[in-house]
Amino acid sequence: MQVPSPLTELHDERLRDRDVRLYLKRDDLISPDVPGNKWRKLKYNLVAARERGHHTLLTFGGAYSNHIRATAAAGALFGFDTIGVIRGEEHRPLNDSLALAVNRGMRLTYMDRTTYRRKTSPEVLACLAAEFGDFYLVPEGGTNMLALKGCMELPAEIDLDFDVLCCACGTGGTLAGLAAGLRPGQHALGFSALKGGEFLADDVRRLQTEAFGAETGNWSIDFASHFGGYAKRTPELDQFASDFRRRHDVDLDRVYVAKMLHGVFARVRDGRFPAGSVVVAVVTG
Ligand SMILES: *Cc1c(COP(=O)(O)O)cnc(C)c1O
Repeated sequence: MQVPSPLTELHDERLRDRDVRLYLKRDDLISPDVPGNKWRKLKYNLVAARERGHHTLLTFGGAYSNHIRATAAAGALFGFDTIGVIRGEEHRPLNDSLALAVNRGMRLTYMDRTTYRRKTSPEVLACLAAEFGDFYLVPEGGTNMLALKGCMELPAEIDLDFDVLCCACGTGGTLAGLAAGLRPGQHALGFSALKGGEFLADDVRRLQTEAFGAETGNWSIDFASHFGGYAKRTPELDQFASDFRRRHDVDLDRVYVAKMLHGVFARVRDGRFPAGSVVVAVVTG
């Protein structure tokens, strides 16, 4: 695991024109198998699972979940068996993401959508325990208090005075943790990758209250950069990402990171970062 992950400054005339300095925190380079925020979120969960004597990790996700794949890889690296409970029906052949998980030794099981909604109820968990035996439960998307603790470590790795730390949001766990690691005066800015993600702000507040006893109040969420919803793409987004690759030789994840950076550049263009701002954007995967 390459931690601390590299920090690189972007040289781009769109930034120069507005006198904004933008750095990328390359968490995507932490590991090819368990990239970015997925590693930060799993780390203390793996420690807890080991301390409590568990040999198996069980987690939930959709068929294209980065978290499922990352949990499979982390289990293989750190000596845990892994079980992935996938929402909906089995489709053969497996998509690349699930095939990779199986390749790392993950056992997959499928859960109909109605049961999936109740997946953490005592009854459903009891059924899973009856089928698979003892396990350490990693929640869907990997978001829990220990995940926040892992993400909270990122800001201290940035050896630079910055004003704003940007990240993409799915469950909001990463944003909730990052914000808690900031110094006074700094701000965390999340970009929702989901349409209608307004519930996210409540989730971030709830997560922070659970983990730290209070919300940190130093963050906000931009809801204008979802491009139609989760995993949706538009020509504009694709064009932004290919232009970004040409300019900076970085291939952006389209589900989360390209949307976030598009949002960052839109704010730069609209003058929403004051001149002289130093902004760090986390490449979460
Ligand atoms: C999973 C994921 C996210 C979402 O993180 P949350 O903590 O669920 O908000 C963001 N970016 C990438 C690349 C991801 O894989």
